[in-house]
Amino acid sequence: MDHPHLLRIGGAWRGADDGATFTVREPATGAAIAAVPRAGARECRAAIAAAVDAQAAWREESVKRRGAVCHAIADRLMAARPALARLRAREGGTALATALAEVEYAAGFFRFYGDEIGRLAGRTIVHPDPRRRVRVEHVPIGVVGAITPWNLPLAAPAKKLAPAIAAGCAMVLKPSELTPLSALAIAREAELAGLPPGVLNVVCGDAAAIGGELTGNPAVRALAFTGSTRVGRQLMAACAPGLKRVALELGGSAPFVVFADADLERAADDCAALKTANAGQVCVTANRVLVERPVHDRFVALLVDRLRGVRLGDPLDAATTMGPLISDEAAERVAALVAGAVAQGAIAALGGARSGAFHPPMVLTGCRNDWPIAREEIFGPVAPVIAFDGEAEALALANDTPYGLAAFAYTGDADRQHRLARALEAGVVGINDPRPLIPSAPFGGVKQSGIGREGGSEGLLEYLDAKLIGVRE
Ligand code: ADP
Repeated sequence: MDHPHLLRIGGAWRGADDGATFTVREPATGAAIAAVPRAGARECRAAIAAAVDAQAAWREESVKRRGAVCHAIADRLMAARPALARLRAREGGTALATALAEVEYAAGFFRFYGDEIGRLAGRTIVHPDPRRRVRVEHVPIGVVGAITPWNLPLAAPAKKLAPAIAAGCAMVLKPSELTPLSALAIAREAELAGLPPGVLNVVCGDAAAIGGELTGNPAVRALAFTGSTRVGRQLMAACAPGLKRVALELGGSAPFVVFADADLERAADDCAALKTANAGQVCVTANRVLVERPVHDRFVALLVDRLRGVRLGDPLDAATTMGPLISDEAAERVAALVAGAVAQGAIAALGGARSGAFHPPMVLTGCRNDWPIAREEIFGPVAPVIAFDGEAEALALANDTPYGLAAFAYTGDADRQHRLARALEAGVVGINDPRPLIPSAPFGGVKQSGIGREGGSEGLLEYLDAKLIGVRE
């Protein structure tokens, strides 16, 4: 993608005040691909000031114009799709096909909110006194800070930016230092699509210093974050003194529950797809695989069969179906979780060894729900399989986690489908459906997986305040 690897502040591409930079590396080879300015609190303050300036005019723009700019951004992202996907695949290591799908997914948020802002309706409330009227209008919350992770470098910013700009907010975005180039590319495309300078500012570098400014600066009225529960908790605490609104998309440990009455072939296809998309580095991936005992061996054989077909390799090669993890350290962490499970008694039905950042798909049977591999987010293409007996045990295991982002269950029994949809404690439940996420539907977690929603009409309300206006004759 042809854009300067610089900070974007108030419509200017610029370096850090002290000229410092950091290196962005390609996970597949470890080679340096860019040197990006290392911003800190000062540059973030400048970005917030630029956003405050731009916000004043942007909130007064017509809904029609804001919606049209969102659509123009979606058009530009789709026109640049091949180049954007290559950039995203290079800096994040994801296979090209997955990266292409992410561009389309990201563009979908701009399309949806480009329309949704025109559907936003206030309301009039009847007052007991006939000479008085009370109405509710939604007004932009103000400048928004956004902090996004490396595993969805296009979609995570898009999910925040699209509703924010449709609502009339300006934003300061801090992408992950591992994958800043995709966010900078979005900023470039957005301004070429007509987004006024300063409405979107991008700073990256010293995460703690930038985070400190975004959470501490009173001009920022809301913080949207996607990342770990650990950092989300810290950011929420830092937002408390200023009473900033927070929207937090945090970790998950989604159960993938397979009942004996399920279509096992389909369940194996979907489980393998979830485990290998972005090499399992997705918060809504299937973390734990729970299989009813009578079909355990058959399902494991089907899953192993699917995962054997994975082509691990260069993410930019069209034949590759799975790329490396984000870094050597990430692959080492996954390998250590696997080694720990094997030491506890797990059997590798499909094994292998990691090589640098490349980690092969694996299936481990005989796992238990209280082992670290089942309790932590694996963030790798490893399926720990836990056998269960009956629906009650399946539900108890599925819900026995501090997280509550997604849950998947496969069953052919219609009554059971309804029971599970009700009883699974998660913000997103997929019944025979591995991917219910679409821009027009609200996505988010319960329990320690987060607060707030992205997508759908709910996602727009995160960037709006309901204002009550009373008028008396
Ligand atoms: P992940 O495990 O996905 O890397 P993190 O929560 O560590 O999740 O990172 C998500 C985002 O939060 C990244 O942009 C990262 O730079 C940022 N981040 C990490 N620590 C802090 C912090 N103390 N303050 C602000 N942002 C942070």
